[in-house]
Amino acid sequence: MPASRVAHEESPELRIARSRGDHVFDTRGRRYIDFLMGWCVGNFGWGNAVIERPAKAFRGPDYVYPNFDYPPWEELASLLLALAPRPLAKCFRATGGSEAVDLALQAAMLHTGRRAFISLEGAYHGNTLGALSVGSGDRERLRNLLGHCRRVKPPLDHAALARFDRELARGDVAAVILEPISMNLGVLIPERGFMGELGRLCRAHGTLLIMDEVAIGFGRSGTLFASEQVGARPDILTLAKAVTDGVGGLGAMLATARVARSMEADGVFYSTYGWHPRSTAIAIATLRYIERRQDALLDAVAATSDYFRARLEAMELGDDAEIRIRGLAIGVDLHDEKRASKVGERCRRAGLLVSPEDTTVLLIPALNIRRATAKKGLDILERCMVNRGQR
Ligand code: PLP
Repeated sequence: MPASRVAHEESPELRIARSRGDHVFDTRGRRYIDFLMGWCVGNFGWGNAVIERPAKAFRGPDYVYPNFDYPPWEELASLLLALAPRPLAKCFRATGGSEAVDLALQAAMLHTGRRAFISLEGAYHGNTLGALSVGSGDRERLRNLLGHCRRVKPPLDHAALARFDRELARGDVAAVILEPISMNLGVLIPERGFMGELGRLCRAHGTLLIMDEVAIGFGRSGTLFASEQVGARPDILTLAKAVTDGVGGLGAMLATARVARSMEADGVFYSTYGWHPRSTAIAIATLRYIERRQDALLDAVAATSDYFRARLEAMELGDDAEIRIRGLAIGVDLHDEKRASKVGERCRRAGLLVSPEDTTVLLIPALNIRRATAKKGLDILERCMVNRGQR
């Protein structure tokens, strides 16, 4: 590959030419089964005609100045709030997930008058300085813009609740920010009852609960939003990625009426490209698509999830491998970073895209993936994964 003038986080693994349905194609015409879907973006398949059509037919304004009104914004906000968990009441416009998270942190600080946050060790919430400040990883030098983010170690069980309680009792915490089921921690699922109890602790200490569903939202977990199934009642919810199925760029921060009032009274949330008219039309089409097919989509997720589980459980993955699965958020933890990365590489060479994430191989297929494609992909995975000592 010739030297690139585009900066990349890592050297690019593939040169992409196009994508269709459950597949992407590289510039040499090679086809890959996509168990990655842009990392939780293409939930409804690439080139989904119902979602692409309004983008192609779009006849609205090129652009709307953010301080004007634009009726489709109201329509999109109504659709998001109708689908989102209660009692969220107001939407703030953003260009993507990091900006939505930043708005969430600002809203929590303005509402509570506090500056500290609690997040999960190992978490990722985006790439702005604010989002990095509540994230983890090896970017220590960029982390502490907010100065005060404390991290609680997973797993999310009853022992962790005691740690949260100790931190919350200091009385300085604006919000706890978590993914309800963490894609970034390889499909980390909280223990039953954990989120409800955490919410109760937060309320008792005057702290807000931010649920970051940028990755897990829009059906991936088997319910429309994962907050519902883990019993979380968020004060703030962040969304992006699958809200446009990848056809446009858009993010949203949703807040309760009380939190929204504090943000509106005191916040500046101007975003030049937040809810661009074309992306707004695409997000509306995506949400109408979800609304009309919700039951069928979630039934398909449940059936495909069972199929993935059965296939994975039948594979020789090695004694210490652990399968974590909720809907089509699927993590196969090999407890071995090198092996996970090798599996990812072997799969790619064999025509399957997966996402190695630390010690876990993440599988993130489209929610409407065809069974024949799922089977072919799992056959490849099995060949690349089985533990016959050829690590
Ligand atoms: N929050 C979570 C949970 C994410 O996984 C990501 C991105 O992967 C973000 C926020 C940031 O979203 P974006 O890359 O759209 O800024």
